[in-house]
Amino acid sequence: MIDAVGLHKTYRLKKRRVEALRGVDLHVESGEIYGVVGQSGAGKSTLLRSVNLLERPDSGTVRVGDEELTSLRGARLREARRHIGMVHQHFALLSSRTVAGNVGFPLEVSGMSRAARATRVGELLELVGLGDKARAYPSQLSGGQKQRVGIARALASDPKVLLSDEATSALDPATTESILALLRRLRDELGLTILLITHEMDVIKRICDSAAIMEDGEFRESGRVLDLIGTPGSLLARSLFPLPENGGPETVFITYPRSFDEPFMSELTRRFDVDVNILGGGVEQVAGQSVGRLSVDMRGGRRREALTYLSEHGLLVEEVGK
Ligand code: ADP
Ligand code: MG
Repeated sequence: MIDAVGLHKTYRLKKRRVEALRGVDLHVESGEIYGVVGQSGAGKSTLLRSVNLLERPDSGTVRVGDEELTSLRGARLREARRHIGMVHQHFALLSSRTVAGNVGFPLEVSGMSRAARATRVGELLELVGLGDKARAYPSQLSGGQKQRVGIARALASDPKVLLSDEATSALDPATTESILALLRRLRDELGLTILLITHEMDVIKRICDSAAIMEDGEFRESGRVLDLIGTPGSLLARSLFPLPENGGPETVFITYPRSFDEPFMSELTRRFDVDVNILGGGVEQVAGQSVGRLSVDMRGGRRREALTYLSEHGLLVEEVGK
């Protein structure tokens, strides 16, 4: 649904040059929630704004659906952009307008009649759980409610793609959770494709099917979250599951990116006579599946055979001490 290839963008400020994008390729499947995570200044917002051409990349192409946006200008670009919704960190609501007035604003601009607008705004507010807030003003709403208004407004023109720039970064954890649940429900019910950027790993863990780690204008790693978690040395897996770094030469990370019924630990000690000491770990829901990750010290016995046994049973084994 989103295909961006070879994006470069350099900002020039008096004497300084900032390379915000240094050759980024981004592929987002239809109906997918794709997260880009990275620290402040990594180039995430520039990337997002390049996808709807609010920022024109110096080179590279952007295709959203059937349209090559980078080849469009003026009215045709504005029209194409109407099919891409955008949600902002600080909501960007008009304080002098009611909730209904904010959500209906893009429809008003596009010339929809008052009656049709009222119906559509009513539907949108129901969709985001604000059916009773149409006449409220933004100042009377909580942060989470303001973001729901922002999301309803982004959906007003019935976009296929939603871009979200740190939509939950100004919210507390419980509200963040409810907004993420809303985004996931919208994806499921409307078949939306969602590209979101965040500096919070937890957001990736909670709702993303695919993700990229961005650093210094480049993707360091990208792919389906469950695949990355099963990939040796994955940065994303390390960031999602920080494990104790105090391991010794015998320390092993064991990851199992699917539900695993066999009691493999007792099997190890019994069959291979190894001593296993658990240093840390846990089981979490990632991309809708249980993923377990353990850090263990494994010594003695037939250690090498024990590790092979785990690999052969589909567990990812990383020898940290090597
Ligand atoms: P992020 O969203 O990951 O924090 P940004 O895309 O906002 O990163 O910024 C990437 C780099 O580009 C930063 O060094 C930032 O200062 C610079 N930058 C972003 N927008 C502009 C701009 N409009 N003019 C000049 N420099 C900018
Ligand atoms: Mg940003």
